[in-house]
Amino acid sequence: MDENIQQIIESDYLIQRIHKFKFGDIHIKHDPQSDFFSIIAIHNTKLGPALGGCRMLSYKSFDEALNDVTKLAQAMSYKAALAGLPLGGGKAIIFKPKTIEDRQGFFQTFGKFVEELNGRYITAVDSGTTSGDMDIVAEETKHVTSRANKYGDPSPITATGVLRAMQATVKFKLGQDNLAGLRVAIQGVGKVGEHLARDLADQKAQLFLTDINEAKAMQLAQDLQAQFVKPDAIYGVDCDVFAPCALGGILNDDTLPQLKAKMIVGATNNQLHRPHHGEALREMNILYTPDYIVNSGGLICACAEYYNYSMDKVKQQVEEIYNATLNICERAAKENLATSVIADKIAQEKIANA
Ligand code: NAD
Repeated sequence: MDENIQQIIESDYLIQRIHKFKFGDIHIKHDPQSDFFSIIAIHNTKLGPALGGCRMLSYKSFDEALNDVTKLAQAMSYKAALAGLPLGGGKAIIFKPKTIEDRQGFFQTFGKFVEELNGRYITAVDSGTTSGDMDIVAEETKHVTSRANKYGDPSPITATGVLRAMQATVKFKLGQDNLAGLRVAIQGVGKVGEHLARDLADQKAQLFLTDINEAKAMQLAQDLQAQFVKPDAIYGVDCDVFAPCALGGILNDDTLPQLKAKMIVGATNNQLHRPHHGEALREMNILYTPDYIVNSGGLICACAEYYNYSMDKVKQQVEEIYNATLNICERAAKENLATSVIADKIAQEKIANA
C-alpha cells in the first residue's frame, strides 16, 4: 500500500474503521437546531441495497457510536448474504438527545437523510426507535421497513428462526430430531425470548428462564412450568442449550468459564465479545451457532416488507435457517475451525462471488 495512504489510515479512528471493515461509505448528518446528529454506515451493496435498523441510544462518544454502527453494518451484510437475501448491509445510529421536543420533525430529518442516499440504504426499527418512528420516516422516503401499518413486529418470526436453528444444532450435536426433554436456559424473555420459550414449551423442552425484569420471568416460568433463575446465575445453569435473547457481548472472558451448556443458540446480536471467543468456545467443545444466522428471521421479514414478498415466502426462507445452520456446523467440523469463522467465510464468499 502507498505509504502516504497508510499514514492517513492510521492517523484517524474513522478512517481506520472504514479500512478495517472494508466499508463502502459512512455518512454523517448534523442539524444543530434540532440536536439531530446521526451516522449511516453502508458496509456493502454488492448483493442489493444495504438494509439495517436505526438505533437511537445515549452514546458516550463519537468513537463508541462509530464502533457500534460499523460493526453492526458489517454483520448485516453477512446476515443478508447467509440468508440468501438480495440485500447488502448497513446500519444507522442517532445520538439520543436528553429530550426530543418535536419527535415528528426529528424523524422527518432522519427520513430526509435516508432519502438523500437514493435507496442505497434502507432503514428499519432497532433499539430506541419504534415502528411509529418508521411511519414518520416513510413520509420522507420509501426506503424504510418495519412500519407499524405494514408487517409489524417481526419477533414471532425471529423466534421461529431461532427454534429451527436450535433444532439443526441439536441434530448435529446430539443426533436427535426432537427437543423433548432438552434443557434450555433462556436469557431475556422479551419479545423474542418469550415467543421462543412458548415454542419450546410446546416441544416439551425443560426450560430455565431469566430476565432483569424478574417478575415477568417468574410469571412466565409459572405459566410454562419452567424454572426461574436469577440473571447472574443463568450462565452456570447445567443445561443442553444456552439461548441468549437479551444483550450483546455476553460471551466473554468472565462468562465463558461459567458455562455448562453443550450448545449456544440465541437471538441476541453480537454475542461474542471479541472474535477470538468463537475459537475459545470451540476449544471448550461448546457448539456455538453464529447469532446472525440464528436471528435472521427479523431481516427476512424486513426484506419481505420492502420487496412486497408474501408471508408464505417469509416462512419458506425462515425454514432455510435449518439447513444453513447444519451446513455451518458440518463445514466447521470438517475444516476444524470455529463456527463463527466458517459463517464469516461463507458470507464473504457469497459477497465476493456475487
Ligand atoms: P426485548 O428488548 O424485547 O427483550 C430483551 C429482554 O432482555 C428484556 O425483557 C430485558 O429486560 C432483558 N434483559 C436485558 N438485560 C438483561 C440481562 N442482563 N439479563 C437478563 N435479561 C436481560 O428485545 P427482543 O426484540 O426480544 O430482542 C432480543 C435480542 O435479539 C436483541 O439482542 C435483539 O437485537 C435481537 N434480535 C431481535 C430481533 C427481533 O425480531 N425482535 C431480530 C433479530 C435480533
